[in-house]
Amino acid sequence: MSLADLLGPSPEWMANAACAEVDPDLHFPSGEHGPANMRQIWQAKAVCASCPVMGQCREYGMTEPHGVWGGLSAGERREIRAREIDHQHELARHAAVQLDHEYGRAA
Ligand code: SF4
Repeated sequence: MSLADLLGPSPEWMANAACAEVDPDLHFPSGEHGPANMRQIWQAKAVCASCPVMGQCREYGMTEPHGVWGGLSAGERREIRAREIDHQHELARHAAVQLDHEYGRAA
């Protein structure tokens, strides 16, 4: 059974997934802590490192709460999403300050 088998109907790029040839459980450790889980995550990442569709997989998996997708663990994806949200908030604050600066002076 492959990752594609587990997920059901899937994007075309999954047909080229390197993990289609390995045990799908490899990419879904039971947690993110402890030597056994860390070893499993690194083994999954080693498969991802040679995957021709890693970019598509990373984008697709960014909102997946579990497993290794596109060479990133669930915790790494959470950190990236949190940084992106912080960045969006910073951009919004900057835009608000600029609007206030421009229109505040005009009023
Ligand atoms: S990047 Fe990793 S999880 Fe994604 S399809 Fe390739 S081998 Fe599978």
